[in-house]
Parts: sequence; structure tokens; C-alpha cells
Amino acid sequence: MAWDREGRWLLTRITALKDRPSVGRILFIHPDDPFEQLQQVVNAMAISADDIRPFTRCIRCNRPLSEIEKSSAADRMPDYVWERAERVYACPGCGRIYWRGTHSRHVRDRIRQIFGERSPNGNSRRQSAMETPADD
Ligand SMILES: [Zn+2]
Repeated sequence: MAWDREGRWLLTRITALKDRPSVGRILFIHPDDPFEQLQQVVNAMAISADDIRPFTRCIRCNRPLSEIEKSSAADRMPDYVWERAERVYACPGCGRIYWRGTHSRHVRDRIRQIFGERSPNGNSRRQSAMETPADD
């Protein structure tokens, strides 16, 4: 399997794959709730808060986000959001626009819950980009 040759794990809920040793490295996901699923992965893979870089990639195409001039996004954001946004980011692949908003605060709260109260960006070497997709 390609993911196994690349040193990756398959995360799945497909029970038919659960006990097939020929498939490769598999983590079978048990919970139904998405945040409980994430908690299982974090625990099973011993992922720490310093391992993650939330809000740095496009949620649509996974490319790293780049900060752009706020003025260039004025016609692609709601006026009230554009006026309040300090920084604006864009995906160089699909062009989707991101900014820090209430959605990102909720996600950060969930990340803190998943990792215990540690900050998801406690490591100052990393700078987290942004935030809320333009069409949410
Ligand atoms: Zn994208």
C-alpha cells in the first residue's frame, strides 16, 4: 500500500480492514464523535501540542497559506469582517481567503481540550496563520 511505503498510517472506520494484516499500518477509529476521533488519534500517535500548526494550511486543498495584503481581499470578504480583520491569508492553490474570526477561537478552544490546557501554539518558533474560511 502506498501510504504504508511512505511511512503513513491509514486511519479508518472500515471494519473490514480492521483485522487484515496485509493492509499495513492501520489505526481503527472507534468513536463516532469527530472530536473523540481526533482525541483517539492524538493519544494513539502520541501527538503533542507542539507537533501541530493549526490554521496554517488550506482546509480545501491542504496547501500552506500565505499572508496577503488586506486590501486585495476587500471584495472577497464581508465588509464588517474586512474592517475588523488584522491579517488576511490566501491559499495559493484554490484562492480561498482566511482570517482570524470566531470560528478559529472555537477551534482553538477544542484544541486546548484535546491537548489538556496547553496552548496549541505554545512553541514560539511557529506562527499560526489564520482562520475562518470566507464562505463559512
Ligand atoms: Zn486551497
